[in-house]
Amino acid sequence: MKYTVVSLFPEIIDAFFATSIMSRAVTRGIVEYRSINIRDYALDRHSTCDDAPYGGGAGMLMLPEPLARALNAAGAGAPGRRTVYLSPGGRLFTQDLAKELSKETELILVCGRYEGIDQRIIDLYIDDEISIGDYVLSSGETAALVLIDASYRLIDDVISAESLDEESFYGGLLEYPQYTRPEIYDSIVGEARVPEILLSGHHENIRRWRLRKRIEKTLVNRPDLLRKGMEKGLFDDETRKMIDEVSSAAEEL
Ligand code: SAM
Repeated sequence: MKYTVVSLFPEIIDAFFATSIMSRAVTRGIVEYRSINIRDYALDRHSTCDDAPYGGGAGMLMLPEPLARALNAAGAGAPGRRTVYLSPGGRLFTQDLAKELSKETELILVCGRYEGIDQRIIDLYIDDEISIGDYVLSSGETAALVLIDASYRLIDDVISAESLDEESFYGGLLEYPQYTRPEIYDSIVGEARVPEILLSGHHENIRRWRLRKRIEKTLVNRPDLLRKGMEKGLFDDETRKMIDEVSSAAEEL
């Protein structure tokens, strides 16, 4: 998978790819990365990349020509390349969409600044507008980082299928609580123990306990996921039965 990021501040993304797990992914050849600085494609000697919007209104808009020239340099529109504009007006980014994007050969990610980009660029170049959540960021670079981070780890063989299987969102549930050493943690606010069942060595009981904890957490924090999972038929008999039990117990409280 290749990520091409088109931005006015590519150094933000460059730093991410130069660090820790992402730099290893690049070294191992799992991902390729290039950044394109829109300012390098400006038309005047001041490298101007923004101007006031037609029709009035607050703020500035990114100029179409420098961005279009940067996108041409990126090869936007060529087969095998999907061009995404990170935008609060896009469809919502989810784990399912991250999985879908992880199968692409190349993603060209367009990062907006100011009040965003000229609509004609969206009409001419953009395959997808994607929002990372219902809030407005000041820049598309942080949103692009979220999209890259969530999608690259789903590329085949980056992380074992077993590790992904019980992560949050898989199978329509959030993840169960996890514990590591020490067994008894003596904090200043009190003593906290690892649940007894995790020390039992009884794999089947641990599996059922974890499933119950996933359901309990999802019911409290994201009941919408349970509803969607039911509608989509994501849950097996055991999970459905446990959802009923946990929901009834919660209603009795
Ligand atoms: N005027 C725009 C609007 O109201 O939709 C907001 C522009 S925002 C200040 C500047 C840039 O940040 C956008 O062009 C986009 O690239 C990025 N951005 C802001 N919020 C985002 C979000 N929720 N998801 C993805 N990108 C976002």
